[in-house]
Amino acid sequence: MAPGVPSMKITFLGTASAQPSSTRNHSSLALNIGGDVWLFDCGEATQHQVQKSSVKMGKIQKIFITHTHGDHIFGLLPLLASRLNGAGGMADGVEDPRLQSQPAQVDAHDVLEIYGPLGTRAYVRNGLAYTHTLLGAPYVVHELRFPGDSAPGDYTEMPLRPPELPSDRNISQANGIWQDIFADESITVSAAPILHSVPCVGYVVQERPVPGKIDPKKYIPELKRTKSPMSLMTKLQQGESVTLLDGTVLDGPPRRPGRKLVILGDTYDPSPMISIAEDPHILVHEATNAHLPGIDPNTKENDTFESVEERTKSRGHSTPQMAGLFARRIRARKLVLNHFSARYAGDDDVDEEAKKVMTAIGSLAREQYGGEVVCARDLMSIDVPLGE
Ligand SMILES: [Zn+2]
Ligand SMILES: [Zn+2]
Repeated sequence: MAPGVPSMKITFLGTASAQPSSTRNHSSLALNIGGDVWLFDCGEATQHQVQKSSVKMGKIQKIFITHTHGDHIFGLLPLLASRLNGAGGMADGVEDPRLQSQPAQVDAHDVLEIYGPLGTRAYVRNGLAYTHTLLGAPYVVHELRFPGDSAPGDYTEMPLRPPELPSDRNISQANGIWQDIFADESITVSAAPILHSVPCVGYVVQERPVPGKIDPKKYIPELKRTKSPMSLMTKLQQGESVTLLDGTVLDGPPRRPGRKLVILGDTYDPSPMISIAEDPHILVHEATNAHLPGIDPNTKENDTFESVEERTKSRGHSTPQMAGLFARRIRARKLVLNHFSARYAGDDDVDEEAKKVMTAIGSLAREQYGGEVVCARDLMSIDVPLGE
């Protein structure tokens, strides 16, 4: 990576759909940006997968939930308990340091942020309360509200209990999307609805323009000639213009477009998010079921590509072909498939049968898409390069 451009890496922590298997855990992926980690979905046993991976638990700063189906959220409470130093209280007469009042000023970077649809906040608050879990560090739950959601209620009758912060937001859609639900100087996150059997969202992570490639040969002789400080290279690297001691003006290289990731939850049709999803470096799209005659021994005799697609859609899910079509439609540079049926074993790196199946699934997507397709497996990591 060029100076000033953070590394970006996706690690798949779980790639199973409804049922986990010995080779696939429930849904979660970790996006590592520089050093921070953002999780997308947090299915059961995600914290176990974190321990098995190179992802650092203590670096998890944000968790984005696509929808509240159990296979995407059941792992959230145990992960919070580990990440935020949770405990089950103290015996009578012993003071619990977690019950001390919060410091008045909390640095925003020290607050774990959770984003999800209506119900996420109630799930977290109720789950922590009924398990008597006391967390030792602050968190906040922001909800992405659909137009049909009841305006005042958040499904929880329980009062907020520290260290949950009261700075939570209920974010309404504007023009059918949730624009910039998070934004800082280097990155923005937006979301949009995608069609599933329950309210579900897809997330778009957009890096802001990054420093251009700098050619030292173009600048250093000028700095030397005018006896200007070499530290000016830092400014030039950022794309700024600097005026040298003799009045010469040097312009840094123009900034380059940043990276863009589109990370979907479960869906049979993600088209409502097209307006914010175009031209990503990576699209992560589910492919729950596939028709694999001659390859999958469990193929039903009467099934066809059409009947399997019909059945898959009726359950709110996609086939590899549907994922491929969407990847082509938004001109994704790379398509990564996840959320596979338990029928499709995830040890295709070592097992020949599994490899045959996953290769066939990838091919079905590629036929529609034309670009590079990766079938995610648990603990697989993918670097997200800036490209030219
Ligand atoms: Zn699911
Ligand atoms: Zn689902």
